[in-house]
Amino acid sequence: TGLFSSLHEVEKDEVFAVIGQFRTDTHPDRVNLGAGVYFSDEGKSWPLEVVGKIEKRMHEEQDITRHDYIPIEGDDRFLSVARELVFSPTFPTQLGQQQSYDRIVSVQTVSGTGANHVGARFLAEHLHPRCVWVSDPTWANHHVIWESVGVPPRTYPYYDKSDCTLNFSAMMDTLERESQPGDVILLHASAHNPTGLDPTREQWIAIADLCFRKQLFPFLDNAYQGFASGDPVQDSWAIRHFYQHQPPMEMCVAQSFSKSFGLYGQRAGAFHLVLNDTSKTTKANVLGNLAQLIRSEYSVAPRYGSTIVRTILESESLSNEWSAELKLMSSRIRSMRRALYEELCRLGTPGSWIHITEQIGMFSYTGLTAAEVEVLRKQYHVYLLASGRACVAGLNSKNVKYVAAAINAVRT
Ligand code: PLP
Repeated sequence: TGLFSSLHEVEKDEVFAVIGQFRTDTHPDRVNLGAGVYFSDEGKSWPLEVVGKIEKRMHEEQDITRHDYIPIEGDDRFLSVARELVFSPTFPTQLGQQQSYDRIVSVQTVSGTGANHVGARFLAEHLHPRCVWVSDPTWANHHVIWESVGVPPRTYPYYDKSDCTLNFSAMMDTLERESQPGDVILLHASAHNPTGLDPTREQWIAIADLCFRKQLFPFLDNAYQGFASGDPVQDSWAIRHFYQHQPPMEMCVAQSFSKSFGLYGQRAGAFHLVLNDTSKTTKANVLGNLAQLIRSEYSVAPRYGSTIVRTILESESLSNEWSAELKLMSSRIRSMRRALYEELCRLGTPGSWIHITEQIGMFSYTGLTAAEVEVLRKQYHVYLLASGRACVAGLNSKNVKYVAAAINAVRT
């Protein structure tokens, strides 16, 4: 035996495990609906054209500082446009008309996961919350991240199994009854993962009021901006509602560019903390504490992806090119929702499937059971999560009929 012989086995992250199974499956009809990644109608990875254009330019320019460290708190210019994208009510923002965002302290992070983790650690250390409220279900990593900083997650009801909709009244009842001042509440800013169900604007208003009244600290996870509606401004509406709440309340946002810019492995992201006390000292101390935390974790964030994002968002015309591609991705996903739904109806597959077209963003919470998912994987080479979550972006005009037929076969 050695010093580490008594380590217990850790369950593998399901998403990465499913991708691994898909990769080793050599069947010609295999379909990957496991990963939260956008694929083209050819079923291939899809680097955005506007991103490729900037990369080419960067390569040609060969800036001698291109591998230098960025500051610990991040690249200022990147943070400024990242903040604009989240908090500005217009897009693209007219250059020179940027708002001041006096209340916000921002740092660059290792993408959305890093932003979630830096935020969780910061709040754990400085707010000492009793617990964090997360939706049932939520992105599995929320549980892992908050447990890792010693703040126990508790769940609020979110998904209604009986008709695959948002159970808003149960969510509010639980929070009303059981939350306590100082608790953190984690909310998905748009395109909820895994259910594809977002609150309406009226419901968001009620959630923000409850947070204010019960003194909960809102933590908005913004990983899919633009994937719900195709419009980044519409998809950040909930964040702006919290930000503009009167009386003002403190809150934070974890921002990812993985999906919206297709920069998955490049790890571009930011953490924004909205303060009530905007005195110079408080802001400097908040930034100093965040910087110290970052220094001990990863020292500085990677610069390749953030430089691409910054270059695009600093230019109005490139911003427009990006937003056109975002629309293209989100509308292809919507058309695949419809295609899957229509094919299941045509086949007369038992069950109601309308929720597939009503849910939004990258994912559909199909309502398929873990046993059905198992058969889909083993017999039909269709890979989705045991919860029934399917990444709709993995569907395309060539495989959607096959997937519908497979679902039909496991249901009948
Ligand atoms: N938050 C949610 C809800 C997500 O689904 C994801 C990615 O799947 C992330 C955050 C973070 O992703 P990344 O670290 O790749 O930016």
